[in-house]
Amino acid sequence: MSPPAPIPYGRQSISEDDIAAVERVLRSDWLTQGPAVPAFEAALARHVGAAHAVAVNSATSALHLACLALDVGPGDVVWTSPISFVASSNCALYCGAEVDFVDIDARSYNLSIEALRAKLELARTQGQVPKVVIPVHLAGQSCDMAALHALSQTYGFRIIEDASHAVGAHYLGQPVGNGRYSDITVFSFHPVKIITSAEGGMALTNDAALAQRMARLRSHGITREADEMTEPSHGPWYYQQLELGWNYRMTELQAALGLSQLSRLDAFVARRRALAARYNTLLAGLPCQRPWQHPDTASSWHLYVIRLQEPLAPGRHRQVFEALRAQGIGVNLHYIPIHLQPYYQARYDQARYGQRHLPEAEQYYRQAISLPLHAELSDAEQDRVVAALHQALHTRHAG
Ligand SMILES: *Cc1c(COP(=O)(O)O)cnc(C)c1O
Repeated sequence: MSPPAPIPYGRQSISEDDIAAVERVLRSDWLTQGPAVPAFEAALARHVGAAHAVAVNSATSALHLACLALDVGPGDVVWTSPISFVASSNCALYCGAEVDFVDIDARSYNLSIEALRAKLELARTQGQVPKVVIPVHLAGQSCDMAALHALSQTYGFRIIEDASHAVGAHYLGQPVGNGRYSDITVFSFHPVKIITSAEGGMALTNDAALAQRMARLRSHGITREADEMTEPSHGPWYYQQLELGWNYRMTELQAALGLSQLSRLDAFVARRRALAARYNTLLAGLPCQRPWQHPDTASSWHLYVIRLQEPLAPGRHRQVFEALRAQGIGVNLHYIPIHLQPYYQARYDQARYGQRHLPEAEQYYRQAISLPLHAELSDAEQDRVVAALHQALHTRHAG
């Protein structure tokens, strides 16, 4: 008998309807700049209750455009969480700004509101309050946005939610992305995320001017709208470049796939929630911490992260991780703290500022393991993951 197929930590779920939707685009007149992109934008904006949506080729691009639309530039500082994908902080550097990190909360693993408050107070006395704070809804659990929004009013910063993990999630009973507590929210449609467009992202906002600016910047900084132009049109061919933009456009193929996937978003999240609840039950009693959930949140469960319990012998975390991989369990680690990446370490050395030691984030990194979780994971596969984890945790350290 061949060994069972490895179980990935995340993967897409593609239906015959998805395939048909993409095929229809291939047979249509538009592969890009047609009707599918605005249809996907309108549908997702409606779904989460935002006024405007701008679809782009990745969440990384959406984060970049969001920073640009908020006028992030040289001399500015952007703060984010160290426990995220590097795109959450790289977007500030693309704009010529500096980036700094706020340590995480020991329970939610999201940016800590207490640490943020303390850091803001210090920054105010030193005259370097951030222009933008980018909370990351890790694993699909919203940050404490009401508290963050209150701080933004006191200290005068803007908020971009990196909700790459959190399309379909809720905060205080409302969909993440409705913009009630932030300026712009960004979603990712990479295949491991909740819904996919292969590559793709979207920026949502309730501010028409921000939406218009991001739409312009995603296509070279060019406008065809007469009311944006600096002089009367020269004729039907006319367009103006008003600022330096990029080609960050989403294709029609991607948008058609995303729109088709959106019809199953609620079903995907329901399945992920059921699997997370099942993990919670099956892992009871094991020497690992299950994900804590703030009562104000309903996660989309992009990730199910466990933490091995202290005290941990040196090398134990890696040993458990490797034992799971050896059994075909595609565990992962989200994330290597961004401030420990060599590129960021070198920047800190050059800039000689900032907090290099983020104890909660670094402690988390020594203990965290993401277990497989996706909409197509079967109960039987989940049982295999749990059995492998039992075995790995009860194996004594050989070293
Ligand atoms: C995946 C991800 C991104 C980047 O998304 P892309 O669509 O791949 O560019 C940004 N931030 C977080 C937290 C992510 O998980």
